[in-house]
Amino acid sequence: MKYSDEIIQRVKDATDIVSVIGEHVPLKKAGSSYKGLCPFHSEKSPSFMVSPSRNSFHCFGCGKGGNVITFVMEVEKLTFPEALRLLAEKSGIVLPHPESREGDQEQERQRDRLFELNEFAGKFFHERLLSAEGQAAREYFKARGFTKEDALKFQVGFAPAGWDALKNASQKAGFKQEEMVLAGLIVHNEEKNSFYDKFRNRLIFPVKNNYDKIIGFGGRTLSDESGPKYLNSPETLLFKKGENLYLLEAAREAVRQKGFVVVVEGYFDALALHHHGFENTVATLGTAMTSQHGRILKRYTQEVVFSYDADAAGQAAVLRGFEPLFQAGLNVRVLVMPEGKDPDEYLQKHPAGEMTALMEKAPDFFRWWAAALKKKTQGAPVEERLRALQEFVPVLLQMPSETSVQAACAAIESELGLDNRDMLTIVNTERKKGGKRLPAQGITEEKVQGTKKDTGTADGLQMEADFLALLTEENGDFIPWAKDELMPEVFENENFRRLFEQVCSGETPVGDLNRVPELEASFLRIEARIEKRMREAMLFDLAAALEKRCLKQRMAELKSRQSDAEKAGEMERALELAQEMIMLKRQYSQEVEPK
Ligand SMILES: [Zn+2]
Repeated sequence: MKYSDEIIQRVKDATDIVSVIGEHVPLKKAGSSYKGLCPFHSEKSPSFMVSPSRNSFHCFGCGKGGNVITFVMEVEKLTFPEALRLLAEKSGIVLPHPESREGDQEQERQRDRLFELNEFAGKFFHERLLSAEGQAAREYFKARGFTKEDALKFQVGFAPAGWDALKNASQKAGFKQEEMVLAGLIVHNEEKNSFYDKFRNRLIFPVKNNYDKIIGFGGRTLSDESGPKYLNSPETLLFKKGENLYLLEAAREAVRQKGFVVVVEGYFDALALHHHGFENTVATLGTAMTSQHGRILKRYTQEVVFSYDADAAGQAAVLRGFEPLFQAGLNVRVLVMPEGKDPDEYLQKHPAGEMTALMEKAPDFFRWWAAALKKKTQGAPVEERLRALQEFVPVLLQMPSETSVQAACAAIESELGLDNRDMLTIVNTERKKGGKRLPAQGITEEKVQGTKKDTGTADGLQMEADFLALLTEENGDFIPWAKDELMPEVFENENFRRLFEQVCSGETPVGDLNRVPELEASFLRIEARIEKRMREAMLFDLAAALEKRCLKQRMAELKSRQSDAEKAGEMERALELAQEMIMLKRQYSQEVEPK
């Protein structure tokens, strides 16, 4: 379900567009409007206007314009629902959960409750760190090179050593034991039917979402004997390791400014980089990068710099992590720490300027990988070195565009001193052997620019995106129809095709489409068609157009095969093809109608 027009209007009405935009752009009153320097293009005299009466903004320099929601989407790089939620929160409007059906209201209440509980626990841990009890923890934090300001800024905390410090405090504050278990803060021992604190005698790092609300915790042990060194909250309604990143909320602005994000593996690495002014740093939460992570980071930047440990485990993590990032269309570079150190250790001994230099010369992922393989196979027989090259192939076959395959091949070739196009030849051979679809089927740069005729032009992509976005209408009630009516093949963009298949099979809830950045523009376009019936009509029209486009291509292909067969004198084959062609034509002339 999408948010209703009524609730969207309520949020717009309740929001003061001048103060929201004013947070990002200094505005001066000019008549009944306000004027400022445009945040979307660089200019010296202001041509960016905000009109409170029309509740809109417009830049006469670059032509950007819209309402308060589109402004927030653009400037904060948020999806429509996220921007709406952010504004609703500011004005105190409670939004229904977008996917909520009858039973989900209970879940919504639970989420709110868990946020409250996390807030309480975060404060509790933080106060313990600052109290007499937290002295040893404070000393440890200081010994790792951090200051009191760091502790305050990142709300670092301390979980006392007992078994029930947090449990007792939160019970006193009115939270139930079951709620604390759901939040992952206390553990239920079923045998003894007892409850105890999950985090004990640990330094605590609260993990926040984009709205600065605590969703979970990480804890570093302060004693060498007990338990694992690092402990995270379990997966909860709020805490998803595959979706969240430590310090993203604090790093967003710097990521945008610096043009890249540094991804590290540990809490201390992330804190150390922030402490030394590398505020464009986030950390994964004990899992590999996921495609969700990729999509989230893509909102803020085009480039990710991995900085994992130089050991084998760190290398393996880079190898695992880059694929979802590539698929999200991000460039990946790898920051290689000298002397096998992690960033935290390195910064303790070297000035920040040296780290900056390291980041600047961090090699492209493929160059880094090729260098690692080169080292591994040095002096090895030729066959072994060739085998090493084969390691790249499956990865290259997954890449989102032909141009990126070529760039990657060039990087590998230059690092390994191969002849120009050797690598590309290997990849092309493998493609033929495996019968794999060429990556060119996805969005290639040529297609986006529309130089390739008829298929996969920007218009075609927009059609596919609009169709997917429209599928979220009516809680996804149109999905069974779409599943019957349309073959996934009508989608030329592989991403979209996959999404369509996943939504049809129920593997992906239809509401998740709201979070796909490539569909944002479509949701906005749809939003503009207030009338529900118009949206439905649009959905059916698009289905028909997609189907037609696909049939048209198949017909063209058939025609060329037919003429090939004729030229080769295979008349029987040509006849078969001609018959197939008639069937297709018949299909083509029929409209796709909803049942
Ligand atoms: Zn502008």
